[in-house]
Order: sequence, then structure tokens, then C-alpha cells
Amino acid sequence: MNEHFNDIFVTTGCPSQQQLLDYVQGKLSAAEQHEVEMHLADCELCSEAIEGLSAIKEKEKIPGWIIEMKWNLLKQLRLRSRSRRKLETYIYLAVLIFGIILLLLGAFWAYYFINRK
Ligand SMILES: [Zn+2]
Repeated sequence: MNEHFNDIFVTTGCPSQQQLLDYVQGKLSAAEQHEVEMHLADCELCSEAIEGLSAIKEKEKIPGWIIEMKWNLLKQLRLRSRSRRKLETYIYLAVLIFGIILLLLGAFWAYYFINRK
């Protein structure tokens, strides 16, 4: 048995988090992996830890550039939709103001013509 592992199992009962992480990532030697597997069979705590670490491993599998690309795309989309919303608001305001001016002008002309008669 690996002396290092033997030491861990004897002194703490459980492998270290780094060791569990190495196990999840398949970095351990066959003998070390076997030791961890043996331990996982009896230790609920470490089994749960392995589950959590597996989730982390899955995330690490996704290349960073994909995450970055997705993030940039999201940022661009958010920026574009925000500026479009702003433009729509301006157009809406402009139409509203134009409409009010037309209405006032119409009222003015109507008033003017009625008074003229
Ligand atoms: Zn354990």
C-alpha cells in the first residue's frame, strides 16, 4: 500500500479533498484509486464529497473559451436589446410629442377658424 495513503487513512480516516479531486480527475495511480474506492464504499461523507467534486469536474471539462464566448454573446445581446429599447423609447416619445403638437395645432386652427366666422 502506498505509504502516503496509508498515513492519510490511519490518521484522518478520510483522504484529503485534493486526493478526492485527483481521484475524480483520474490522476491517481491504480493502487491509490483502489484505496479511495475501498474507502468510498464505507464512507458516506467521502461519497458525497466525490459527488460534489464530480460536478466540479464536469464544469472544468467545458473549455474556458466557450464560457467566455457565451458570456460575451450574452453581454452583446443584453447591450443590443438595451440600446434598442432605449431607441424605441425615444421614438415613442418623439411620436407622442409630435402627436401633441399636431393636436395643439389642430385645436389652434379650429379655434382660429371658429372665431373668424
Ligand atoms: Zn471518508
